[in-house]
Amino acid sequence: MSYVDRVLNQLRERHGEQKEFMQAVEEVLESLRVVIDENEEEYSRLALLERLCIPERSVLFRVPWIDDKGQVQVNYGYRVQFNSAIGPYKGGLRFHPSVNLGIIKFLGFEQIFKNSLTGLPIGGGKGGSNFDPKGKSDREVMAFCQSFMTELWKHIGADTDVPAGDIGVGAREIGYLFGQYKRLSGVYEGVLTGKGLEFGGSLARKEATGYGLLYLTEEMLKCNGIDIEGKTVVVSGSGNVAIYAIEKALQLGAKPVTCSDSAGWIYDPEGIDLDLLKEIKEEKRARLTEYAAARPGAQYHEGRGVWQIPCDIALPCATQNELFPEDAEMLAANGCIAVAEGANMPTTREATKYLQEKGVLFCPGKASNAGGVATSALEMSQNSERISWSFEDVDNKLREIMINIFHNIDEASKKYGLEGDYVAGANIAGFLKVANAMKSQGVV
Ligand code: NDP
Repeated sequence: MSYVDRVLNQLRERHGEQKEFMQAVEEVLESLRVVIDENEEEYSRLALLERLCIPERSVLFRVPWIDDKGQVQVNYGYRVQFNSAIGPYKGGLRFHPSVNLGIIKFLGFEQIFKNSLTGLPIGGGKGGSNFDPKGKSDREVMAFCQSFMTELWKHIGADTDVPAGDIGVGAREIGYLFGQYKRLSGVYEGVLTGKGLEFGGSLARKEATGYGLLYLTEEMLKCNGIDIEGKTVVVSGSGNVAIYAIEKALQLGAKPVTCSDSAGWIYDPEGIDLDLLKEIKEEKRARLTEYAAARPGAQYHEGRGVWQIPCDIALPCATQNELFPEDAEMLAANGCIAVAEGANMPTTREATKYLQEKGVLFCPGKASNAGGVATSALEMSQNSERISWSFEDVDNKLREIMINIFHNIDEASKKYGLEGDYVAGANIAGFLKVANAMKSQGVV
């Protein structure tokens, strides 16, 4: 049995119930076969894959807090410090009722390769809680964040582990978390990214994941002889990533026509009204029904369904496993030419395979959504130097990083005879840097 199969079997036996984690590991290790098989004896002797797939450390804790009625609530807290071979652990915190250890491990594992692809010195980690900020008062969110940080602060630091936002964790939550870290540690340092601009945040961090997604998509299309201008774009989600993907798509002359949240979705044939969407989602924290109410030409549908709208480009930007084989079939049948993931692992493995077989250009999230963490690393640099760069400086660096990522994954796919398979290219390019660093650092 090959080394890859042996490790996959061991992991399935031990972690079979962690569905999302196993899905991510299987996708990565399967596409690394070409590299691993070449170095089978060495990697196996060094137990490199076992060390890559087992986090360096997982911190699990309870988070007690008091709600507005005086009732004590208890949530689960997680921080998985997966791999520090190329830099301090870096990866967001997710607050969503679905969060469990398997989801945090899948996100942390993906983060190792994504962070490596940015070319910046950051290792992989992820954390979060099953706390749901939706419908909570500001005071309740603050109480939760303070309790969460009261445990987490012992394990993080500007040179050890630097969390950021993710689903359910935006500027408000990062502010409360930062305040509590500073209070407990007595140190003012860049321990979190995605901070407010008044206290060490970076310009363009809020926009970075969505903008970066479009920079990479534009480059991928360009290298395949296609201009993004005038293309119809279907987007899922209406959070941080989706909003700024829509904004950059509009700036590049494309036409985004959909967005969604967990209750329903919008089809606006005239093109999404960005100001209205921002007002509803960023200011009012309201539902998309309000969008349709304010825009007579737009349709609101309950449930999921954006992938049935004919488009040239599809950008899944909500959450994991939101684009299934039947969606992939509709996209391909309707003439979609490119899918680039803004979310982490939004496309199932079967749907990814189908799209690739149909010749749809497909870029995996660990490459196409890496602009967020890359800009977080730029925020860390600015914090260390105690300076702030202009919006243009950060945006230019982001664009350069995304273009480099695309060319790195493209070259890796060609080098291993898998031209156009950007999933394999991303996994291989991300892996090699981390694997070489791990080898150099001995058995740790
Ligand atoms: P937000 O919380 O800002 O927005 C998430 C959006 O997705 C909301 O519209 C939300 O709807 C929807 N959504 C979340 N969970 C579900 C679900 N289970 N079913 C249907 N819809 C859902 O998160 P972000 O925009 O920050 O993150 C989106 C994705 O991008 C995630 O996969 C995240 O890991 C990834 N990502 C984020 C980065 C960042 O910088 N923020 C960086 C790299 C990746 P509702 O409001 O109704 O819940």
